[in-house]
Formats: sequence, C-alpha cells, structure tokens
Amino acid sequence: MKRVLVVLLALSLCILPGCTAKEAYSENTFYAMNTFMTVRLSTVSENGDSISEARIAEIHRTCEGIIREVEAQVSVTDADSDTVRFNDSDGGIEDCGEHFLSLLERSVFLSRLTDRAFAPTLRPLSALWDFGGEGYVPTDDEIDALLCHTDPLAVYVNGNAALKTDPELQLDFGAVAKGYAAQLLILYLESTECRGGLVSLGGNVGLFGDKADSTAYKVGLTDPRNKDAVLGYLSLTDGFVSVSGDYERYFEADGIRYHHILDPKRGSPAKSGLISTAVIAKDGALADALSTALFVMGAEDAIAFYESGEADFEAILITEDKEVILTEGIAELFALSAETYTVISSEEGMND
Ligand code: ADP
Ligand code: MG
Repeated sequence: MKRVLVVLLALSLCILPGCTAKEAYSENTFYAMNTFMTVRLSTVSENGDSISEARIAEIHRTCEGIIREVEAQVSVTDADSDTVRFNDSDGGIEDCGEHFLSLLERSVFLSRLTDRAFAPTLRPLSALWDFGGEGYVPTDDEIDALLCHTDPLAVYVNGNAALKTDPELQLDFGAVAKGYAAQLLILYLESTECRGGLVSLGGNVGLFGDKADSTAYKVGLTDPRNKDAVLGYLSLTDGFVSVSGDYERYFEADGIRYHHILDPKRGSPAKSGLISTAVIAKDGALADALSTALFVMGAEDAIAFYESGEADFEAILITEDKEVILTEGIAELFALSAETYTVISSEEGMND
C-alpha cells in the first residue's frame, strides 16, 4: 500500500492590519506546542506614548513564558507533563497544574455540550492512525479495541487531582489547548499598556485592543484546497478565531485522504461533508474546541447546534461542494475572495 504523508505546517490563518493603520508593531515568532506562534504588539500605549524597546521585549518574554507554562503541563509528549503522567497512570494523578485542570474541566464540559463531537480522550486512536508518522489504516477490530476506552465521563476532577475510572483512558488537549493559550495571552496583553495586538497560534488567532483609527483586522482564511490562497477575509476588532480542516494533517492511502480530525463515535476520520470550519467567539478555548466539533458534526448538525443557542459563537463552514456557509452574526463581516467557492446563508445550508 502506498502511503504519502503530508504535513502542512502553513498557518491556517493570516492576518493583515487594517489598511489605513499607521501604527508601529513589534512581532515575535517562536515554536511551541507543535506549531509556530506569533505575537504582534502595538508599540504605542493607550494614551499614545511609545513604549520602550526594553518593555516590549519584556512583554514578549512574558507571553512566551505563559505558553511554555501551559505546554509544560498539557503536552502529550513531554514525559513530565500532567497529561503524560495522567495517561501513564492507572487511576489518575494528584497535584495537577491549574492549566491542566482548567483544560480538563472545560474539555469534559465541551464534550457533553457537543454531544461528544469533541472528545479529549482520543489519544490512543490518533496514535493508532499514526497521523504524526507515516500513517496507518487500522482494522475495525483495532479501532473497536481502543474506542471502548474513550468515554470522557470516565475522568473527573477532585480538588487538585484528576482521576479516571478506566485505566486505559488517555487525554489529548490538541483540539483545545492552543485556543485556551491564545486567550491567556490576550488576557495578559490587555493588562499591559499596549494599545492593541494579536496572537496567532497555529490556526488560532486572538485579537485585542482598539486600534488608533478603529480599523478592523482582516483575518484571512486559507483555501482548504489551495493552501497558498486565501478563501476570504473576516473583519474583526477583537475576540478569537479558530480553524480546523482536513488539509492540516493527513495521509493518503489508496487514493483516500485520512485526516487527523476523528469522529469520536467511530474512531476514524470524520466524514461529515465539511472540509474546513472556522469558529469566531469571545472565548478562545470554546472557539478552538468548536472548530473541531463542528467539523465532526457536519453542516446540518452544526447549524442546528448554532441555532440552539447553547454556546455563544459564529461559524464559517466549508463543504466539499465548495459552499461557504455563514452564520447570521458573521455574514456581514466575511468577504469571499476565492472564486471557486459560493457563499450561502446558514438557512440555505439547512435546506441543502
Ligand atoms: P489543529 O490542532 O491541527 O489545529 P484541531 O484544533 O482541529 O486542529 O485539533 C485536532 C487535534 O485534536 C488532533 O490532532 C487530535 O490530537 C485531536 N482530535 C482529533 N479529533 C478530535 C475530536 N473529535 N475531539 C477532540 N480532539 C480531537
Ligand atoms: Mg480545534
């Protein structure tokens, strides 16, 4: 069997400053949590004074420090992380870090909220499919043997302990941790004197601040079938945008694309008719988790979930038929640039 592994490291999102912005920015890029991360700060304070280079460097260092702290607790590969200690344990672990506990509690909640389209317990299955390596298509028996150990309700928090009732259960916060970290950075940056800025953490963008001329940022969404092209731009002044797609990490075997977003009920790559999703929200972890969950749900269930009002977000759903479905609250803020796609409203998406 011929298998071709394609790992795309390109950012799923690109950001352009508003065209009339004249502000000076300072940018820092580093590698963490398996991706490139960029922090861009306005070097002007809220009252219009310029901020010293030393102070800007200190803010950048603090941002990187926050990311390293989150990574040290939740990394799924670092042997000392809470996640790995938990995964290697039979019944759970004591003395967990605050980020690990927050992510765990939020992830269990989000799993329930999305009727398990999002599940932080798929680590053994991702490893079986070997998305991080050459790629492997498992048998149904191999999948079933692991699927029965992925119940998110078999894990719970008790004080500073994270406990599990199934020794085989393993955690993976890959679909929520970067959005959570983006929000931590934005909360910190808002407490500094910087007038505005943004963070871009591998497919998760956080924006803050009032730009001097109140021009919105333009967040470009990657065309899922042409990673060098932009599908369209979102005009936003603040909040979070997260993107998931079948083009980010996948391998091909016998002409079939096997991508890294798993349907937690089947244990295999989600085949929902969607090829990419973007979620816009005021909460970074929610945006990240929902971009993955909506991808698994597919257009119809995702729109029904949006309309239920159970979570506060807007979404862009891109179907394999190259339709771009926009939810009501975002329709005015999105401008399509790729001609091969057609924009439709979420009502039309429901009737499709
Ligand atoms: P990325 O992290 O590549 O930007 P996502 O936010 O969509 O993209 O997260 C995908 C990652 O989350 C996978 O690599 C895997 O580790 C994990 N994962 C896969 N399927 C699910 C799912 N249904 N729910 C929660 N996590 C998932
Ligand atoms: Mg996600």
